[in-house]
Amino acid sequence: MRYQAFLIKYAEIGIKGKNRGIFEEKLVSQMKIALKRCEGKFSVARTSGRVFVYCDGEYDYEEVTQNLQEVFGIVGICPIRILPVCEIGELKKAAAEFFGEEYPDRAHTFKVHCRRLSKNYPLDSMGVNAEVGEAILEAYPEATVDVHEPEIQLNIEIRERIYLYSHILEGPGGLPIGTAGKAMLLLSGGIDSPVAGYMCAKRGLKLDAVYYNAPPYTSERALQKVIDLASKVARYTGPIYLHNINFTKIQLYIYEKCPHDELTIIMRRFMMRIAETIAKRTACDALITGESLGQVASQTTRSLAVTNEVCTLPVFRPLIAFDKEEIIHISKKIDTFETSILPYEDCCTIFVAKHPVTKPVADVIRRHERNLDEKIDELVQEALETDEILIVDRDGSRVFKHREDPLEKGM
Ligand code: ATP
Ligand code: MG
Repeated sequence: MRYQAFLIKYAEIGIKGKNRGIFEEKLVSQMKIALKRCEGKFSVARTSGRVFVYCDGEYDYEEVTQNLQEVFGIVGICPIRILPVCEIGELKKAAAEFFGEEYPDRAHTFKVHCRRLSKNYPLDSMGVNAEVGEAILEAYPEATVDVHEPEIQLNIEIRERIYLYSHILEGPGGLPIGTAGKAMLLLSGGIDSPVAGYMCAKRGLKLDAVYYNAPPYTSERALQKVIDLASKVARYTGPIYLHNINFTKIQLYIYEKCPHDELTIIMRRFMMRIAETIAKRTACDALITGESLGQVASQTTRSLAVTNEVCTLPVFRPLIAFDKEEIIHISKKIDTFETSILPYEDCCTIFVAKHPVTKPVADVIRRHERNLDEKIDELVQEALETDEILIVDRDGSRVFKHREDPLEKGM
């Protein structure tokens, strides 16, 4: 195998002071989960402020790097060639060979950068830099040295063995999953909410999700689309508990009792209330939505304020200042876009008014919600009790808790 190990670069985690250990531990455990999916034997080690993956025997390079590229917290992945500690003549030969294999066209500017962790190596770092640099120039006359802004840096670390590495594959960045606690994502079948979930997860949040379904107005395929989206996001987050809430009766009741230009905003307030109740029961400390300022009537500043007032948990809206194009760009990057644009109806689109209010007045909305006093608590309770919970991971979904009909239970 061309590489026997990988050096894992992590930028931000490095600056967390006393918490650094905790962050590194989470990073390592997330990496182990990713590597479990790969064919081969691997070990992950934290040594002198670095994290390494050691590969024992054969493995699939693409598979390993792709899986590591889904671990938040990783900024760069450097494939390493490992040699036994050897004298400088042999090191020069091996390093030049490595350079030639890594950069077959060789017409680059380069610099050699040696770190000597084992101080009993006879040459110091400067000496190794000079000797190896010379060997590369001799072997490949088309290469030139540039110590200030080289195109290529060939790194040599002299430890209990000698490590050679140069390429850096980009990682997803961010912070390891779980370092920021857990939040409840309001996940619809649209473009925005999966991106919002991804972005918050990238800052270390574990995700649960809630989806409001309105059968028979929405189909099984609409639910499947949301499961597929959750599954794509789960590649980065690990398994997601998806709460499938039947919202039909609540929507119909709002439709019957409230002014139609306020339907969306009132409906959104109930989505937030229900999401918050589930969040609190499942140890989530925040809600996440895919709202973006000005995108639709329910996402004006005033509408967001009126929606927000029903929540006590913080509501994270990572897309608030993003243009649609920017959101689409990320959704393509995380491969949710093609699924998001499938044309299955969403519960919000069915009961939408022609001219929804863009500047709702909180007092007025509260007053109109009182039209719902007679039955709404019962309907919300029923929706919560018939919550069907699915566990969604990268390979698909399975039911964790079946829907129970409270009427059948005599409630
Ligand atoms: P998206 O592309 O995420 O569907 P959108 O632009 O269609 O967003 P809205 O329909 O106004 O916007 O919804 C705003 C946010 O409310 C969504 O991003 C999502 O977080 C949440 N949301 C909307 N509909 C649902 C639903 N059926 N189930 C769960 N959450 C929803
Ligand atoms: Mg939507």
